[in-house]
Amino acid sequence: MDEVRAVVGAGHVSTGQTDRWGYGRDLWPQAQIWQRQGRNPFPPDLVAWPGSVAEVQQLVAVCRKHRVPLVPYGAGSGVCGSAIPEHGGLVMDLKRLSAIRHLDPVSGLVEAEAGLIGQLLEDQLHAQGWTMGHYPSSINSSTLGGYLATRSAGQLSSRYGKIEDMVVALEAVLPDGQLWRSVPTPRSATGPDLKQLLIGSEGTLGVITAATMRIWPLPPVRQFQSYVFPSVGPGLEAMREIMQKGLRPAVVRLYDEADTSLALGSVGLEAEGCLLIWMLEGDDAGVELESNAVSDTCLRRGGISMGRKPGEHWYAHRHSMGYRQAQILPDPTGLVDTFEVATTWANLIPLYDAVRRALKQHAYTMAHFSHAYPEGCSIYFTALWEAENPESSEDAYRAAWDSALSACREAGGTISHHHGIGRQKAAWLKAELGPAYDMLTTIKQALDPDNIFNPGNLGLGPSRWMATGAGRDA
Ligand SMILES: Cc1cc2nc3c(=O)[nH]c(=O)nc-3n(C[C@H](O)[C@H](O)[C@H](O)COP(=O)(O)OP(=O)(O)OC[C@H]3O[C@@H](n4cnc5c(N)ncnc54)[C@H](O)[C@@H]3O)c2cc1C
Repeated sequence: MDEVRAVVGAGHVSTGQTDRWGYGRDLWPQAQIWQRQGRNPFPPDLVAWPGSVAEVQQLVAVCRKHRVPLVPYGAGSGVCGSAIPEHGGLVMDLKRLSAIRHLDPVSGLVEAEAGLIGQLLEDQLHAQGWTMGHYPSSINSSTLGGYLATRSAGQLSSRYGKIEDMVVALEAVLPDGQLWRSVPTPRSATGPDLKQLLIGSEGTLGVITAATMRIWPLPPVRQFQSYVFPSVGPGLEAMREIMQKGLRPAVVRLYDEADTSLALGSVGLEAEGCLLIWMLEGDDAGVELESNAVSDTCLRRGGISMGRKPGEHWYAHRHSMGYRQAQILPDPTGLVDTFEVATTWANLIPLYDAVRRALKQHAYTMAHFSHAYPEGCSIYFTALWEAENPESSEDAYRAAWDSALSACREAGGTISHHHGIGRQKAAWLKAELGPAYDMLTTIKQALDPDNIFNPGNLGLGPSRWMATGAGRDA
């Protein structure tokens, strides 16, 4: 404590009960169940807020010297338990590192610090006529470092790419305390791309302190279209056709029947079937080209136009949707969660059916298809269910997840398109990576031999949560 205080100053370290409670959880619904039961099983011992990269390096040195677990922390919006300090120790909140260091309008690049909240980054870019194009629905409560550490995807990803496509250079404090700055360059053939090793490492392989990101001029034109299809199949075919033409719609979302009634109901419209929303943006010529292709394709494939209202409504409410789960979780037996998987076009319907079948015995499920690529897309399930009584909430929560994850694995999907792994899916990460998981553990061992960086996350090192029997072997 004395050494940490000497690094960051007395005002930027806390052992207070409120801070230890708040930083003992993220937005993993499992942690919200603990909270509603009045439990906080994994509080950190202390929380520190470093104010510079040098202070981050010094804190890493202190933690290494005393073998104290260290959990890098953005805004705690992760939904898989990746920021939970299972082994106590120090939570390092990075939000004081929030400067935009440099905007290069010639190259279309911005260098920003890792603790900057996504919306504040976009606000500052917009003021100068730019956008990074990364708009997760948690944008008001998540950081640039968190996006990189979890391999995040924004809602406009079909046009602007995912976070790993946007990053041009990375700055990070490695587990041995060294500061690494990769060279800002559009590409290099200098061996494996080690930036990508940190992207998705979820705090286990170092602290990301800044990144140089690709930015785009703000698009002058935005257009919405929507169609209803009789079922999921023809809607998916329309999505595939557009993506395989090489077009880049900013948003494409196909809702299944259950999700459609919610989406259309919220704008006062009614229709049987599956709603497909498009958002196109760019300059006049680009949007006109995409607009014609989208309407030709959708009408030819049996879609009925629902105009622009459903898309406009979705856009206006795109950041509020996810937080509705907060209204259900305080109910002592209510359970709600989301599960985002991905696969190729050829395997989408089998994966969709398999996960729905598995969840049916536990929960009411709805889904939408989004984040489209030429070769496939992701499926985003929302499940609502109820435990028999408050005491069985955790078991009921786990049982549904066990079924869904097993079904996804058996159907050949990936267990996460963009939420990451955390504690929640660690056992299934081993199953999905197979022998490559040994590569990951070997890399972790070599870089962080004392396993002080977020121990237990991604299944790297012992997990106190799994030891409770809650995280079963996949
Ligand atoms: C309502 C809601 C909507 C969401 N919508 C989306 C969405 O549209 N797309 C999406 O991808 N995700 C979404 N998420 C999930 C979440 O917002 C993302 O995972 C986000 O990237 C987490 O950022 P954070 O700053 O909150 O990270 P945290 O939750 O604080 O941390 C996440 C992980 O990253 C590590 N970490 C954080 N910062 C650093 C750093 N600087 N260096 C090293 N490791 C670090 C932590 O140790 C932890 O393992 C949503 C979550 C909620 C609650």
